[in-house]
Amino acid sequence: MSSPSTLLDPATLDTGLYIAGASVAAASGARFAVHNPADGRELAQVADADLDDAARALDAAADAARDWAARTPRARAEVLLRCFSLMKERADWFATLISLENGKAWDDARGEVAYAAEFFRWYAEEAVRVIGEVSVSPASTNRILVQYQPMGISVLVTPWNFPAAMATRKIAPALAAGCTCILKPAAETPLTALAIAALMTEAGVPAGVVNVIATTQAGPLVSTLLADPRVRKLSFTGSTAVGKLLLREAAGQVISCSMELGGNAPFIVFDDADLDAAVEGAMLAKMRNGGEACTAANRFYVQRGLYEAFSARLSEAMAALKVGTGLDAANQCGPLITPAAVAKVDRLVRGALDQGARLRIGGQPLDGEGWFYPPTVIADVPVGADILREEIFGPVAVLVPFETEAEAIALANGTEYGLAAYLFTGDLQRGLRVADALESGMVGLNRGLVSDVAAPFGGIKQSGLGREGGHHGLMEYLEPKYVALSW
Ligand code: NAD
Repeated sequence: MSSPSTLLDPATLDTGLYIAGASVAAASGARFAVHNPADGRELAQVADADLDDAARALDAAADAARDWAARTPRARAEVLLRCFSLMKERADWFATLISLENGKAWDDARGEVAYAAEFFRWYAEEAVRVIGEVSVSPASTNRILVQYQPMGISVLVTPWNFPAAMATRKIAPALAAGCTCILKPAAETPLTALAIAALMTEAGVPAGVVNVIATTQAGPLVSTLLADPRVRKLSFTGSTAVGKLLLREAAGQVISCSMELGGNAPFIVFDDADLDAAVEGAMLAKMRNGGEACTAANRFYVQRGLYEAFSARLSEAMAALKVGTGLDAANQCGPLITPAAVAKVDRLVRGALDQGARLRIGGQPLDGEGWFYPPTVIADVPVGADILREEIFGPVAVLVPFETEAEAIALANGTEYGLAAYLFTGDLQRGLRVADALESGMVGLNRGLVSDVAAPFGGIKQSGLGREGGHHGLMEYLEPKYVALSW
């Protein structure tokens, strides 16, 4: 393979808004800068949508809605399958683009493209498996016929940490269900979403079915869309704070909401765990995407008997990671997304150290160009430290010892979040018992990775509403229609 840095010339990127099947300038002509977090330099100037552009995108989605919903499920499936094939063919190109605008390490970028493309394939397969029901009413007075219909125009809002996968995890089920959509990507990483929209047109997605509007005015623009009665669905991935705000706004038109929000994943290691497997799982759960994942292990609770050994082994593995630009395939940990993200991680680490935690490795932002924070391990973090309550979103592992199973469960559940949780034990009975007791939508049992296109991804408590992936992800875009039948 050629070097990732030579696969793509940023000057050739599409930087317009994607409306009605074409790349167009913003009505105002405004543009904003996108930066490469690995060197802090400007990568591109992207069209900055305003409310007029939002209206254009909505009109385009509305114009395309009837025809797209009327296509046969097989026809929709075939288009999605072509999207899958094209994205796989261009995997290295997309990985380069993701690494350029998000900073992630090359292997993570490659992994994201593979994951993102799989949503096209999965929902191509699901599009033809929307199965209704027929039953007899309890009093036998009538038959109950239930069929599923597309919800309608969908507004999709995505974060910067998985610029491709968060987009396809929403677009693919929306299209499979027969909905048209308007995607608003994060301003830090709009280029990947714009490139996906262009690829989808090439694959045969009709004009207006997928529209992408990047903007620096996320609040007013999304509010305008949610105030329009034509919009029937909002699928949001991002922080809990913004999710709450959008739930309130969606109430105005009683819009159906799917919410994938923040996490604060516990990672529990029992004394009887396989240490090698636990360290390997910890590296995956913590360091996939440099820690910038909603599923990232945020708090490591390790039983006293294994605490020192686990802490030493994890520190060794973290210290061995090569830090640097994702465009050099040898690097395993990229930069954080912005200088503000580095400052936040720094604040959390300093706070924990001030409260008596023990620094094992790392612990200082790196000098030089780019927004790098090194892999860091801090042990003996006191319960109550901010770093145990807030999402770190960086390459920092925080260790706390525990004595009993009940204590581990109480510590793990002591958060308003409930997205992912991990536990390692050699006792399957205990594993399943603790998995039942953990307040989270997803549990990795002796496994540091939970994301899978075929599984329902999502959280409970303040981590969200609804699920993405699997068959559940398709149902988020469908409404049951019941017909009472006499025959
Ligand atoms: P964010 O909430 O700041 O932004 C997410 C998206 O919302 C972006 O597109 C942003 O432009 C937009 N946005 C911001 N303010 C808005 C407003 N007032 N109205 C409408 N849209 C607005 O989150 P982020 O910093 O981009 O992403 C990180 C967060 O996302 C973390 O909390 C992470 O846990 C969460 N996340 C969750 C999942 C999941 O599946 N549960 C997946 C990835 C990321």
